Amino acid sequence: MPSLFEMEITKLKGVGEKRAALYRKLGAPTVGDLLRLYPRAYEDWSEPTPIRDTVLNEINVVHATVVKAPTEHRVKGGMLLYKTVVTDGESDLALTFFNNRYIPSLLREGQDYVFRGKVTGSFFKREMLSPEFLPISKSLSIVPVYPATQGLTSRIISSAMQNALLLLPQTLRDPIPDALRSQYRLCHLGFALEHIHFPKSEAELDVARYRLIFEEFLVLQLGLMRIKRGRKEKNLHPLPNRFPAEFEKLLPFSLTNAQRRAISEAISDMAGDSPMNRLIQGDVGSGKTAVAAALCWCVVSAGMQAAMMAPTEILAAQHFTSLSSLLEPAGIRVALLTGSVKAAEKRKLYASLEAGEIDLIIGTHALLSEGVAFRDLGLVITDEQHRFGVGQRSALAQKGTSPHFLVMSATPIPRTLALMMYGDLDISVLDELPPGRQKIETYLIDSKKRVRAFGFVQKHLDEGRQGYLICPLIEEDETGLASVKEYAGLVKDCFPHASVGILHGKMKPAEKDAVMKEFSEGALQLLVSTTVVEVGVDVPNAVIMLIENAERYGLSQLHQLRGRIGRGSFQSTCILVTDIQNEDTLKRLKLFRDTSDGFQIADADLKLRGPGDFFGQRQHGLPQLTIADMSSDLEVLKKAQECAREIMSKNVLDAEEYRGLRAEMRRLFAKTGSDNVVL
Ligand code: ADP
Ligand code: MG
Repeated sequence: MPSLFEMEITKLKGVGEKRAALYRKLGAPTVGDLLRLYPRAYEDWSEPTPIRDTVLNEINVVHATVVKAPTEHRVKGGMLLYKTVVTDGESDLALTFFNNRYIPSLLREGQDYVFRGKVTGSFFKREMLSPEFLPISKSLSIVPVYPATQGLTSRIISSAMQNALLLLPQTLRDPIPDALRSQYRLCHLGFALEHIHFPKSEAELDVARYRLIFEEFLVLQLGLMRIKRGRKEKNLHPLPNRFPAEFEKLLPFSLTNAQRRAISEAISDMAGDSPMNRLIQGDVGSGKTAVAAALCWCVVSAGMQAAMMAPTEILAAQHFTSLSSLLEPAGIRVALLTGSVKAAEKRKLYASLEAGEIDLIIGTHALLSEGVAFRDLGLVITDEQHRFGVGQRSALAQKGTSPHFLVMSATPIPRTLALMMYGDLDISVLDELPPGRQKIETYLIDSKKRVRAFGFVQKHLDEGRQGYLICPLIEEDETGLASVKEYAGLVKDCFPHASVGILHGKMKPAEKDAVMKEFSEGALQLLVSTTVVEVGVDVPNAVIMLIENAERYGLSQLHQLRGRIGRGSFQSTCILVTDIQNEDTLKRLKLFRDTSDGFQIADADLKLRGPGDFFGQRQHGLPQLTIADMSSDLEVLKKAQECAREIMSKNVLDAEEYRGLRAEMRRLFAKTGSDNVVL
């Protein structure tokens, strides 16, 4: 429906400039975008309850007649009340509305309406306060609920939607060609749009949803496959296909078999006909950095440069420290570039990089700065990839001419899912931890045992170790959950002699780095933190972690957190604190307590989808999906992927018939900034 995407939202009846601004805020600047703004829920108005059977203190739907016209009452504070009584022929229901001067014109004596709202009062005198209502003739059985915003209620959006649907051209062109639609049993786009907004039954809604989810996945998969194929250009940086035995001599340990296999797979890519596009997946602590170092060594030994990008300054600095001490003895020149490098220093760095006097540059987003240029960029690595978008990945790659490309993921993802999420990458898995790792002891306690747990923490501090105390919130609020600021006070009382630091996401990067530096140098013994420590941080002397309100976290997130300890040779302990009695929650936490394998945990997470499920936080760097959900719609995803493969293998995507799908691909990927690379 290309033309509707070009039609400004103001073209709709009742949408002026002021409302248009609100629609833009909701992500709907055009009529086409509005139609793609799907309800976030539906209310069932279909089954009215006789008034005398309504359940007190719950939402009820009632069909009733207005007995007498609403009367106006002024009460203290200047508030206006409107009162009326409605009946269903058997019983009466009193209605009260506040400050809504339109009530008398909306509710007419003798007319029938559907009312929906919470019933209060008593068994003998039932009441509804400010119910929603519609004339019976206009009422729907299933009412869409839209993501409303200040000044734009769900009701207003719903009526705009009705107008927008009227504009759907009768001969709406479906982006999915007819043949595919019948093969995969998908309804027409027109039907889908109409019924996703205004379904008359659950069954219609299911048909519409299925089609729209399928389409979104299809478009995503095709886009990813295109990116991959687009990169299948000629390999301009061929490497000899040979395992770097000399590199291994630089390491203080010998590589695990999994590391060796991943390195070989990557080298054989880089020796092949087209550039490498590979994802290294490994559990926390599986040694991804050593794999990256090996590949950098290979590329630099072949006379080219390498760049490695990490999501935070802390991580970049950490990689710089470990890689420079490892690779500099081999004559490799390593540099660090982050936002906090001074301007003069930066200029010098840029110049040496361009002159080829730096072999390996490690940094943050700063690597994407305009001034950064290479003499011969052979390899681009991004660490903890889920923090980067598809677009940022390719932005770094564009600093060179089709360099090899390696992504290191911090989160173990079930393989089937990884294959789909990373449709544009080949995958190596590090499924083995370096030898000698001690299992992290994990305990689940309630807050009554906190004091004892603190005693246990103190014992470790006395032995010279350090620890993390994790809270879900930064500041106290009405939820009663632990907050970093309040907790730090408690910690100071309970550990009067300890040096305590605070870390959370609202601190400036420089402040965070300073605290992290102090902690990693051992100047701080305890770190009270939110989940900002979750990714990648490596302080081997930290051996104990206590997680407050453990119920708040998804399994994969807990796994990432726990991965901050157990990184050295000391026995480490993780203590989960929760007072939640909910059976499912306890089951989830017990599973976590008893499992240390990240892939197993990821599988369970996917099945259970606890709160904060691991795709919940838009951390995968893929375009944002509007209706499809990677974990709950897995079956549809499989079908859509099958369909995408078929299209790619027939090589028909550029045909006229697929014009609509190509437009949808551009739209979906536009926001990731990878538009130009992809399509
Ligand atoms: P991650 O995969 O989580 O990024 P790292 O690369 O940070 O893991 O490695 C974790 C720790 O394990 C580091 O201290 C690293 O030096 C060490 N390590 C990596 N590979 C091996 C190995 N083969 N044998 C022993 N220790 C290793
Ligand atoms: Mg790492």
